[in-house]
Amino acid sequence: MSKVIIIGAGGVANVVAKKCAQNDSVFTEVLIATRTVRKADAIVAEIHEHLPNSQTKFSTTTVDADNVPELVKVIREFGPEMVINVALPYQDLTIMDACLETGVHYLDTANYEPKDVAKFEYSWQWAYRERFEKAGLMALLGCGFDPGATQVFTAYHAKHHFKEIHYLDIVDCNNGDHGKAFATNFNPEINIREITANGRYWENGQWVETAPLEISQDIYYPKVATRKSFVLYHEELESLVINFPTIKRARFWMTFGEAYIKHLNVLEGIGMTSIEPIDFKGQQIAPIEFLKAVLPAPESLAANYTGQTCIGVQAKGLGKDGEDKVHFVYNVSDHAKTYKEVQAQGVSYTTGVPAMIGAMLMLTGVWKRAGVYNVEEFDPDPFIAAMNEWGLPVDELAGIELVK
Ligand code: NDP
Repeated sequence: MSKVIIIGAGGVANVVAKKCAQNDSVFTEVLIATRTVRKADAIVAEIHEHLPNSQTKFSTTTVDADNVPELVKVIREFGPEMVINVALPYQDLTIMDACLETGVHYLDTANYEPKDVAKFEYSWQWAYRERFEKAGLMALLGCGFDPGATQVFTAYHAKHHFKEIHYLDIVDCNNGDHGKAFATNFNPEINIREITANGRYWENGQWVETAPLEISQDIYYPKVATRKSFVLYHEELESLVINFPTIKRARFWMTFGEAYIKHLNVLEGIGMTSIEPIDFKGQQIAPIEFLKAVLPAPESLAANYTGQTCIGVQAKGLGKDGEDKVHFVYNVSDHAKTYKEVQAQGVSYTTGVPAMIGAMLMLTGVWKRAGVYNVEEFDPDPFIAAMNEWGLPVDELAGIELVK
């Protein structure tokens, strides 16, 4: 029924491609276009090995997604209905430009971030609203798990449980063990930039800034563990406080183990996480890019990963009848199980499955509007139903306040 291009061939792209292959009545033809084409070829080889009955036709090609004319050429030659961008946030704007030029829809899983400033916000991509509207095209931003499913969960709270949400806490626990001294679960450069930045949360109509990892508390993650969790700034907070204006406070929490924080502190202390290029033997390199090169690739962690992830959204406020209410919506995924299914660890899996679901809802016309949108602006029910169908079961816990 539909032709799509997946841009990127990393941990998340691997999952998106395999989920498209499983969902072959929607995704009939897929081109994986990326910088290092052998990684895309390896994904396709695994699909042929593990999903031999899939009818989806796969091909691969090289593209530099920083280069609009190159992207335009690849898109024109293949003629897809949409592009699923699972390269890096640095490429969001060039890919959106290429989509506008070629008249195809767009989806990504992380908002634009300039390479030379450690700062991410939606303003750059929201600035494309009018152009997408005029072109009759849709761009769906941040359709992974967080951002992505967490906004679907918030919209679900608002639709089914709350008259007014006052307090929103998004919690992300990775209780897995990959057996390495230090590694990041997704692109190390993007991950470390996110964690070493100042924290930020929304309270009473304004952003409150914290030092990195300054605020923490122990949170119980149902079916998984109680883990120390830290307040981080996370991009979905920016759109959620706009789209749900009754929110008085919105925070994002993530778990980190002591060993992880110790490594990070040392790396930061010696300047290895810096994005400022230095001269090394006549070559300009940013220390964090070098660090990425020596750390394990996220996709290489998958084979020996054990344990679970638990990501959810706690809402507190006035229930549908005006009563005080607290409610939690969440998913638990198991690293070993996701490896068995798609040869990926849980963090790539929980990102890639929602990206496939978002694309499916766009291609089948269930979520379809011209313009640039965040995930919570659409009906959450078909998305939740698809999560249950495609490997991310959604659970609910009523009346227990997990985050104080
Ligand atoms: P990886 O680093 O594993 O993969 C990124 C891929 O993009 C690589 O194949 C890389 O190519 C390719 N790429 C990078 N630059 C270019 C370029 N200029 N042109 C073409 N291809 C390029 O990252 P992940 O798969 O872990 O993450 C993918 C995206 O998902 C990121 O944007 C990340 O922020 C996002 N994410 C979102 C989450 C969510 O829940 N919303 C959670 C986790 C990740 P090469 O192989 O040559 O390096």
